[in-house]
Amino acid sequence: MLSAGVFALAAALIFSGYMAGMTRLYSDPQQYGLWYLGVSYGGVLVLQDTYFYFTHRLFHRPKLFPWFHQGHHRSRHPTPWTSFAFDPLEAIVQSLFLVGIVVMIPLHFITLIAVLTTMTMWAVLNHLGLDRLPALFPHHWLGRWLIGPAHHSIHHLKYTEHYGLYFTFWDHICGTQDPDYTQNLRIPFPGNGET
Ligand SMILES: [Zn+2]
Ligand SMILES: [Zn+2]
Repeated sequence: MLSAGVFALAAALIFSGYMAGMTRLYSDPQQYGLWYLGVSYGGVLVLQDTYFYFTHRLFHRPKLFPWFHQGHHRSRHPTPWTSFAFDPLEAIVQSLFLVGIVVMIPLHFITLIAVLTTMTMWAVLNHLGLDRLPALFPHHWLGRWLIGPAHHSIHHLKYTEHYGLYFTFWDHICGTQDPDYTQNLRIPFPGNGET
């Protein structure tokens, strides 16, 4: 509930900033071309994933963990309620990203709403638990690069792996991807040795 309050304050700040002409939010979809709506949407997701990955790793430092991230890890087996269960300080850090992008990057209102909707739905999805998506998902060529419930459930069990939000590439690049991730799911699937 507290983190919902923090995100609501951030939304109020963004809206007041817009009214005061301090943001780069715009309302005419043609202003930067229609192509920019899609590109800025994808770009913001990549930026947010990067911001989340590195702040998340920082929060796992022993000195910061009790202040910033312990609240989220109270759920060892996550449920959708876990998706926005943040300590207030973590909620502030995550909401500052949203305040930062509307000040720095030209974004159409629809793009911002699409990003917020994606963020909310993806967070709920990631906290559904181990077996809520079809077994194919983590084994699929695209599924390997997207974070889903099985991937993030492992983070709630093993704190040293799987720090990303949307995509797995930072986990791959920084060596925090569980090498046996797909094999250890123990889901019958041709190709993982358990047919
Ligand atoms: Zn964590
Ligand atoms: Zn989580």
